[in-house]
Amino acid sequence: MLELKRTLDAKGHGVLEMPSGTGKTVSLLALIVAYQRAHPVELTKLIYCSRTVPEIEKVIEELRKLLDSIERHEGKKLPFLALALSSRRNLCVHPEVSPLRFGKEVDGKCHSLTASYVRARHQQDPSVPNCRFYEEFDANGRQLPLPGGVYNLDDLKALGRQKGWCPYFLARHSLQHANAVVYSYHYLLDPKIANLVSKEMARKAVVVFDEAHNIDNVCIDSMSVNITRRTLDRCQGNLETLQKTIHRIKETDEQRLHEEYRRLVEGLREAGAARETDAHLANPVLPDAILQEAVPGSIRTAEHFVGFLRRLLEFLKWRLRVQHAVQESPAAFLGGLAQRVCIPPKPLRFCAERLRSLLHTLEISDLTDFSPLTLLANFATLVSTYTK
Ligand code: SF4
Repeated sequence: MLELKRTLDAKGHGVLEMPSGTGKTVSLLALIVAYQRAHPVELTKLIYCSRTVPEIEKVIEELRKLLDSIERHEGKKLPFLALALSSRRNLCVHPEVSPLRFGKEVDGKCHSLTASYVRARHQQDPSVPNCRFYEEFDANGRQLPLPGGVYNLDDLKALGRQKGWCPYFLARHSLQHANAVVYSYHYLLDPKIANLVSKEMARKAVVVFDEAHNIDNVCIDSMSVNITRRTLDRCQGNLETLQKTIHRIKETDEQRLHEEYRRLVEGLREAGAARETDAHLANPVLPDAILQEAVPGSIRTAEHFVGFLRRLLEFLKWRLRVQHAVQESPAAFLGGLAQRVCIPPKPLRFCAERLRSLLHTLEISDLTDFSPLTLLANFATLVSTYTK
């Protein structure tokens, strides 16, 4: 513990190895909470990353016992907020959405009820469905921070039901002022999720990775893309749907596409300035500087971008037509792409964000259908960042 305390003093990194069942979690929590209370300005938050939901719940229970015991000992209530965060699948309380089996379905359905354009349509026509839990949270749940205490997933759901607020967005909102947050590795390590959930997180935080030998695998997983022939066939279907939707919008509301073009000239930061409910996944790697740049002219109009994706798709179909295993460096792959279908790396970098902007402009409500194309765009963005 002394070494760990020295690590905190030095603002450095430490590795703690202890056999299972010897009280690693509670020792760590006791030390860090005590340190937090002794140095409230230097250390404002504990971020505890675990792997699975049962492990997250276990840490929260240890934290609850620890705080109870401190409160009993000191005879007063501590002003301390600790909460668990998990996916919509584990926090949703909507009667029709929460029974859905897969996380992707819950995310897609939630998006189709809460996206800004769906909510705007609901204002015009109340028969368009929205989520009353999100509406109620948006209207009344943001003014006051959650009262101090320890909240596991069930506590958040119970509170959400009682107040009529969405527990998922309530938990995400409360991350900012919580003293301790327990969530999965992905919320911090996978840039597609971290950029949405943990971007505003305080810098004066201690981060604990439980079972840290898994970090490698989580990083590899979150930066890997598996593309099969079936994915590419489904991408083809996605592109047909996009093309048809663009044609329809050109006939009925061309101004919307012009408006998107104007925003893309300003850069992705401006184009991506959407509400919390619009973003499904952030881009996998783009650094902030690139988000300020204007999107390359070759993919700025909706139709040009769809044509660009078609060329990329054709190239990948051709690449998968091999009969034997091939290992290729990203640089060689990018060289082949430029040579065969004239796609340079620069517009490739913008693919993930450009697709996100287009889906938003076209007001596609269920993004689950577009997961193959999103995967393809993520792959394009990832591969373009390599130079060797
Ligand atoms: S806003 Fe919350 S309660 Fe409503 S569907 Fe989405 S996750 Fe469920």
